[in-house]
Amino acid sequence: DSSSAAAKSEADGDSKTTDDDDKEDKAAQSLLNKLIRNNLVNNTNQVEVLQKDPNSPLYSVKSFEELRLKPQLLQGVYGMGFNRPSKIQETALPMMLAEPPQNLIAQSQSGTGKTAAFVLAMLSHVDPNNKYPQCLCVSPTYELALQTGKVIEQMGKHYPEVRLVYAIRGNKLQRGMKLQEQIVIGTPGTMLDWCAKFKFIDPKKIKVFVLDEADVMIATQGHQDQSIRIQRMLPKNCQMLLFSATFEETVWNFAQRIVPDPNIIKLKREEETLDTIKQYYVLCNSREEKFQALCNVYGAITIAQAMIFCHTRKTAGWLAGELSREGHQVALLSGEMQVEQRAAVIDRFRDGKEKVLVTTNVCARGIDVEQVSVVINFDLPVDKDGNPDNETYLHRIGPHRSIWQKGTGHQHGRQQDEHEHPQQDPGAFQ
Ligand code: ADP
Repeated sequence: DSSSAAAKSEADGDSKTTDDDDKEDKAAQSLLNKLIRNNLVNNTNQVEVLQKDPNSPLYSVKSFEELRLKPQLLQGVYGMGFNRPSKIQETALPMMLAEPPQNLIAQSQSGTGKTAAFVLAMLSHVDPNNKYPQCLCVSPTYELALQTGKVIEQMGKHYPEVRLVYAIRGNKLQRGMKLQEQIVIGTPGTMLDWCAKFKFIDPKKIKVFVLDEADVMIATQGHQDQSIRIQRMLPKNCQMLLFSATFEETVWNFAQRIVPDPNIIKLKREEETLDTIKQYYVLCNSREEKFQALCNVYGAITIAQAMIFCHTRKTAGWLAGELSREGHQVALLSGEMQVEQRAAVIDRFRDGKEKVLVTTNVCARGIDVEQVSVVINFDLPVDKDGNPDNETYLHRIGPHRSIWQKGTGHQHGRQQDEHEHPQQDPGAFQ
């Protein structure tokens, strides 16, 4: 009918969904995660390890001392407030620091300590007396490269002889020059140019090659080929390390082309139990009825903190506006915001400055707010065909309140998240 057609066309106009948007979104999401994350995520699962040589002993460490790090690095690690290795670091660090160096593919959700691990490996392997690049680290975007660079700087704080340079567009170097920094971090295109075209870097002298955020990387046209071309210029004995938050087949295929004879480490996401969660629903016939129902329980939900999920940023914006008009103080987390703005909203909410956060699924993915005691599905999550999306529902209401999604969002991309489903779903309150 005409009204649902109108809703549909509105929805289409609301979010121009192209593949590129989705890809950009992945990198932005990853950056957001890094900006708001200030500690490790909880994970009680065992790491799964697949060794290249199953007969070689598997080492795992419970302390940083056991790794026999250079004192300057141990100081750097403790200076960052790390007391002991994270789950994934327990196994990944001894593997990465072993002699001869071992190749590694590691997968675990964001916030489990991957970056800190490979930064420590890079810093351990460089020889500061040699004034030429020895470690290359490629990241999907400039902003993500900067974040990793910050970790290198923090961890290497007491090791100033080791220097770092960013291979990113805009960082123009004089033709014919040779880099003296031991660590180069950047995006694949510029890194490749610096190795192959301008020869600022001698790839034959590289000892460690890190490819970070492989799942985000392969979402960008060209990054995969560029990364493979860089990899091919490196010596055989160069240590190859690849990290990813998710591991669908495309990532796996790519990983195997980058990392020959790998050891593989995987850490499953924490299972969520619903034993302690009470769920309620209210049947409503229209958006206005849903709004009324929400107002009726508003007093109860704001005793602690609440997150309200809408299907589109348009609905989220509308709802936040209506709630404000009713005199309620709410925060809105919307897709239109810059990543930094989003991080600021989340920080305020986490600090308890705002009691209620209205958001869409896309925006809230990965947010982990322990003190949230009520989750409201103003719109139930549905996939792009309008079918119930149980997994997203569980992640929204899960006890860890970590709004992770399966995979990298093949099925749960922005398309579904940011589109208004033409039919109104009954609102469900939980
Ligand atoms: P990932 O790369 O998997 O997303 P990070 O290395 O960025 O994870 O670590 C996530 C957060 O946990 C960061 O704030 C980091 O400083 C912190 N962190 C990493 N390793 C440890 C550790 N061993 N102990 C305490 N905090 C850690």
